[in-house]
Amino acid sequence: MLNIVLFGPPGAGKGTQAEFLISSYELIHLSTGDLLRSEIAAGSGLGMEAKAYMDKGELVPDEVVIGMIENKLEANKNAKGFIFDGFPRTTDQAKALDVLLNRLGTPITAMLSLEVEKQELIDRLLSRGKNSGRADDQDKSIIENRISVYNEKTSPLIEYYKKQDKYYGIDGMGSIEDIAGRLKEIIEKQN
Ligand code: AMP
Repeated sequence: MLNIVLFGPPGAGKGTQAEFLISSYELIHLSTGDLLRSEIAAGSGLGMEAKAYMDKGELVPDEVVIGMIENKLEANKNAKGFIFDGFPRTTDQAKALDVLLNRLGTPITAMLSLEVEKQELIDRLLSRGKNSGRADDQDKSIIENRISVYNEKTSPLIEYYKKQDKYYGIDGMGSIEDIAGRLKEIIEKQN
């Protein structure tokens, strides 16, 4: 299996690049942000609980997102692999993911970290917010908070995957096609 953690701050282009990669490699795209937004749209209890955190740009509790990922892994045991997008976001989530994947006998292949300057992240998110209607992409202070939460709680995962020799930093500036090319170059080298 090819199991990729697509990593980076909000606005780095994880979702866009995941779309490219799933079509090239027939992987299952697991975005915890998308899964949570589906729960909100469905009006579920879990969705309502998550919304309160998401509206502030805070992280949803680990056990909620870990449970969602566990269900998806169980439901797709015969997949060719997974792209994790927006997950893991804390060290506890990364540890839980390792446990779940070990159970399936298929570890993380690589962590591809998209690196984008802060001002570019803010510009991209505000521009996405105009079209997507996502409330957390429309307010500059919520966006700033999401980036701070990333720096504080999520960026330590770079060290976590470096220790496992799985970290690859990728320049996330430039055209969508150029960035996709950089990602593919690294994926092709895996095995
Ligand atoms: P995203 O679509 O990845 O930008 O996520 C949108 C929001 O969903 C985040 O700001 C968090 O509130 C929540 N979220 C998504 N994924 C996670 C995660 N792995 N852990 C905690 N909260 C998450």
